[in-house]
Amino acid sequence: MTTFNQELLSKLKTIVGADGLSATEADRALHAQDQSTHPAVMPDVVIWPESTQQVSAVVKVAAEHKIPVTAWGAGTSLEGHSIPFKKGISINFQRMNRVVEVHAEDFQVTVQPGIFRKELEAHLAPYGLMFAPDPGANASIGGMIANNAAGIRTVKYGATKDNVLALEVVLANGDIVNTGSRSIKQSAGYDLTHLIIGSEGTLGLVTQATLKLVPIPEHFSTATVAFPSVDAAAEAVYGIIGSGLEPAALELLHEDNVRWMNEDANLGMVEAPSLMMEFSGASQIAVQEAINMAQEVCADAGSLGFTGGIGRDARKAMWEQRHGLRERLVRTFPGHHWVLVDIAVPISKFPELVSYCQAKIIDFGFDGRIVGHAGDGNMHAGLHFLPDDEGAKARAVELGHIMVDRALELGGTCTGEHGIGIGKQKYLVKECGENALELMALIKRTLDPDNILNPGKVVPL
Ligand SMILES: Cc1cc2nc3c(=O)[nH]c(=O)nc-3n(C[C@H](O)[C@H](O)[C@H](O)COP(=O)(O)OP(=O)(O)OC[C@H]3O[C@@H](n4cnc5c(N)ncnc54)[C@H](O)[C@@H]3O)c2cc1C
Repeated sequence: MTTFNQELLSKLKTIVGADGLSATEADRALHAQDQSTHPAVMPDVVIWPESTQQVSAVVKVAAEHKIPVTAWGAGTSLEGHSIPFKKGISINFQRMNRVVEVHAEDFQVTVQPGIFRKELEAHLAPYGLMFAPDPGANASIGGMIANNAAGIRTVKYGATKDNVLALEVVLANGDIVNTGSRSIKQSAGYDLTHLIIGSEGTLGLVTQATLKLVPIPEHFSTATVAFPSVDAAAEAVYGIIGSGLEPAALELLHEDNVRWMNEDANLGMVEAPSLMMEFSGASQIAVQEAINMAQEVCADAGSLGFTGGIGRDARKAMWEQRHGLRERLVRTFPGHHWVLVDIAVPISKFPELVSYCQAKIIDFGFDGRIVGHAGDGNMHAGLHFLPDDEGAKARAVELGHIMVDRALELGGTCTGEHGIGIGKQKYLVKECGENALELMALIKRTLDPDNILNPGKVVPL
């Protein structure tokens, strides 16, 4: 790889202007670390392009000199995705943040990748529409596409991959490619859109995306349900999904999570392992019927109490607190390092997974709190330790392996939504098998023969 010199910087400056590039230590440091505790690495230079043509021209220079290029959305990844491990150029998309066109009549929007999901939500609200995927952080749409992010609403509306119709992508040689179309049904050739989604910036840089939207529901009903144990709550999750109910959200909370939410927003929730659920739809009667049925299922699973009829303001505060739980965890344990477990299984196996992991967490002496997008069979546990406590670190890593192994045995995955980055690479071969991994490597080598796009991520070459 070429190291940076003045000539290269000047070449890049002619593309994006002096204002579109920085090699200062402060700017490089701001692009050295995501929200994980993987080691930070500073890029040599940060570039803020303003158009697809600029991205293409920058990548052409990078390709010519074999310089690594790592895209940067909001930097909220949790497995080292946006850390430029091989240095080079960090491309920050924040100046490409326009809503290009709202196709309200077709429930679609075309955007640039640097727009953040909350800005997009505010832009779409007057149309009565929303982009459904909602990770806890205020991520960029480009980062959500690259990581195939999911969230609380995924149980009803799917993950990012289910809500993208078309992309504009800059490839590793600088070529600009359009994938997909605005038609909901698409069957023309290889599905390049979905090859790029979830590729974590290793196969191409997304410069524009057309997204599917859904109407903001008119009617909803939200409830919290307390249980005597996390196991009982997980059983109820299976009961709710198994009885054909279609919640708009179904979240599992550890009692500590509930306590923190009460402390931060005075929610008055019962401080026990709990489910937060919501049903939404076109009529209040249908929504109420669904929540009544869910209440019966929870009672059969031994629920301690069911709090329904939660008003608009309390509902908003509750979901804000739920979205903020990871930040609360980090605030509660400042300076700690983390092994973040993000496993998912078929829904019938969810109670077994939760029960197994809960017992293991206790065996290993951690206070890891199981929390999750339970309706998707997805659970998280944050195993934390002080950076100089090598013993605790080794135990956290081992426990992380054990939980992933169990998820795989149950037909699941090592990552339901956070993606691979570098943190989950070690599990890819076990989950996908050697042939699939070799195929992934072949795709990477074909699209990016010099390995300049986010090198070192996803597929270990
Ligand atoms: C508090 C908190 C809660 C979270 N909750 C969830 C959750 O519920 N569900 C979930 O799925 N995730 C969650 N995450 C993880 C994270 O928010 C998502 O993975 C998100 O998609 C990352 O988006 P970003 O804009 O921050 O991307 P970045 O971290 O900046 O980048 C992510 C990856 O995408 C690449 N990339 C960025 N932009 C582009 C582009 N235009 N073209 C190609 N590649 C690009 C980067 O190189 C990197 O590999 C959470 C994170 C935090 C901190």
